[in-house]
Amino acid sequence: MTSPTVGVLALQGNVREHLDALTACGARPVPVRRESELDAVDGLILPGGESTTMSKLLDVFELLEPLRARLGAGMPAYGSCAGMILLADRILDGRSDQHQLGGLDVVVRRNAFGRQVDSFETDLDFRGLDGGPVHAVFIRAPWVEKTGSDVEVLASVPHVTSMGEDPGAAAGRPVAVRQGPVLATSFHPELTGDRRVHGLFVDMVRTSA
Ligand code: GLN
Repeated sequence: MTSPTVGVLALQGNVREHLDALTACGARPVPVRRESELDAVDGLILPGGESTTMSKLLDVFELLEPLRARLGAGMPAYGSCAGMILLADRILDGRSDQHQLGGLDVVVRRNAFGRQVDSFETDLDFRGLDGGPVHAVFIRAPWVEKTGSDVEVLASVPHVTSMGEDPGAAAGRPVAVRQGPVLATSFHPELTGDRRVHGLFVDMVRTSA
């Protein structure tokens, strides 16, 4: 399949940038707000935004169970930031009533970066991506505190950032992970114009279809 149909969950958050990145990677992007739209996609991006708000909107738009069902059936998914939080099996510092879609055997800490500074940037070595480090922008981002045995860590925060700063408690934390058809990053590749992470996800959708 050369041009897979890839949805972007469009309840809230930065949807437009992901749609553009998908087009640039040769996919057919579609915003997803209802079950019939979800049914038509080969893979789905869960964008950054606010995970508690998205969680509520999943109820309002009656997408929670359909989405869990698609994920359970192996639909490729990529979650960025709030999207990573939604895909995680367990979260720390979440709201007790926020839903987890699950599918990614990790524990993430919500707003982990935001406890010190609202945003944080550094270059990351990203396993499996050619062309040098990925510039990563974190906005009140989660980090991964625990990974299950089937989870591959693709990138972690370096001990000294590319700006020469000490990242403090963030040092060494995984910020890009993959488990089979599920990919997640704490950061926002859709904001930097570097299409490699989206390219990786579109390739995952192509291979699974
Ligand atoms: N802090 C947000 C949350 O908990 C995530 C921030 C983001 O997606 N940029 O959902």
